[in-house]
Amino acid sequence: MQESTIELEQLLEAGRKIHLAIFGNLILGLWILIVVWNALPPMLLTGGVLLLVISLLIRVILMLNYQKATQETLPQWQRYFIFASFLTGVFWGVGSILLELYATDVYQGFIAFIVGGLAAGGIVTSSSIRWNYPAFILPMLLSLACFYFYQNDETHLLMAIAIFIFIFIMLSSAIGFRKLQFEKYKMLQEIMVAHDKLQISEQQMKDITNSMGEGLLVFDTSGELIFLNAEGERLLGWSLQELLEDKQEICYKIHTQENGLDMKEHLIQKVLVYGETLRVSNQQFKRKDGTLFSVSLTAAPIHSKEGVESKGVVVLFEDITIKNHLEELAFHDALTGLYNRGDFDKKLKEELTRALRYERSLSLLMLDIDFFKKVNDTYGHQAGDEVLKGIATIIATSIRKNDYGARYGGEEFIVILPETDTTEAIALAERIKDAIEKNAFYLSNDTVIHVTISIGVASSTKGILPECLIESADNALYKAKANGRNRVWFDLS
Ligand code: GH3
Ligand code: MG
Ligand code: MG
Repeated sequence: MQESTIELEQLLEAGRKIHLAIFGNLILGLWILIVVWNALPPMLLTGGVLLLVISLLIRVILMLNYQKATQETLPQWQRYFIFASFLTGVFWGVGSILLELYATDVYQGFIAFIVGGLAAGGIVTSSSIRWNYPAFILPMLLSLACFYFYQNDETHLLMAIAIFIFIFIMLSSAIGFRKLQFEKYKMLQEIMVAHDKLQISEQQMKDITNSMGEGLLVFDTSGELIFLNAEGERLLGWSLQELLEDKQEICYKIHTQENGLDMKEHLIQKVLVYGETLRVSNQQFKRKDGTLFSVSLTAAPIHSKEGVESKGVVVLFEDITIKNHLEELAFHDALTGLYNRGDFDKKLKEELTRALRYERSLSLLMLDIDFFKKVNDTYGHQAGDEVLKGIATIIATSIRKNDYGARYGGEEFIVILPETDTTEAIALAERIKDAIEKNAFYLSNDTVIHVTISIGVASSTKGILPECLIESADNALYKAKANGRNRVWFDLS
């Protein structure tokens, strides 16, 4: 299959050069005929002209039609070419013998010179088709050599031998030329196949990366952007083309450095140097319009098949704004912004395990607003909500970073205080209670409300179960209520 494709290519090559053969043979043929016009009998001259015209006509037809050759009709076309070459060869062969017979020495030397030149030129114009060149020079030169051979004198014998040697040299040159051309086409074909494959894999890579749900940036070894997939374009608002055209550093264009992390320095260069995959969450990427969005990203080195050396870096990034928001919804109370009860139980278990492992204290505050029903009844539910928000703010600003404040129920709050003993917990509870008592809650309708809160305090003992600690804090809260409200209670037992 491959070989016949190349043979077809070679036939087309011969077709492309056939005009040179036609031109050369026509000019030289006519020239010879004119030169020897008076030396030959008219019959032979007419025959010569006819033969030349027919052979050239066939070649002209070939010149006009060779492009129609296909894989299937290839042998047929090869035969046409060979036949045309053969006819031309016969013209020159017969012509030179006739000149030997009828013309003077001057003409004979001249014709030998022309025929030698045609034999040499024929290599370029007709040797790309198998047997095409021999079909030309064998009738042309072999007939002349045979003619000399049968002259039976030493000079002609030597001339015949010289022609045989010449034929041998010309044929081997033609074979070499043909081989060279064959190799050229084979190489071209291989390059084309490789090129096609490359294009296919490039397209496949594009298709795959464009169907990804994550943004994908590809950087080369010098940290220059070379690819951005469709999702990446959508998320960033930049097209790959725009990013490539604008000379400003892409990393600074799409990444803000609020966390002190320089995308190029800390991410791409690091991956290139150490060849390791890096994952970073909660980075801020900038869109084309300047707005920010949160991403988590993974930067990984591209390795070649052979070596460990990185060939570039791929950065996969995912918009986590929605995820963050959902997390917020899942773990935070919508009204107050404090954690909700959903995460509280898990957190308490974790903190208790840690307290036990490191033998540290842990305390719990349970808070309940006093007579909150009355607030609702007097000022309305909405006003009640505003008070709840205000109290949540006071709690959130009173506790440390590692403490954990949650809305436990309607108007009940709970605070986990890791590494806090009873005394410290009571002191904090007193501060919160006082802050709430002193606070004037301004409502949107210019009403001012004062509320108080009761707080139950409990501290962990070795190996206490979470539910027991909560119950203990709840009991203390009950006592605080029973003992007059607006107070902090801790049970010693
Ligand atoms: P106590 O001093 O005994 O705690 O009296 P209280 O009136 O506060 O009684 P309780 O703790 O049982 O109060 C529960 C009330 O809290 C019932 C409900 O009207 C109100 N409440 C619960 N959740 C919300 C809320 O999300 N918004 C508002 N505005 N009120 C709430
Ligand atoms: Mg209550
Ligand atoms: Mg209450």
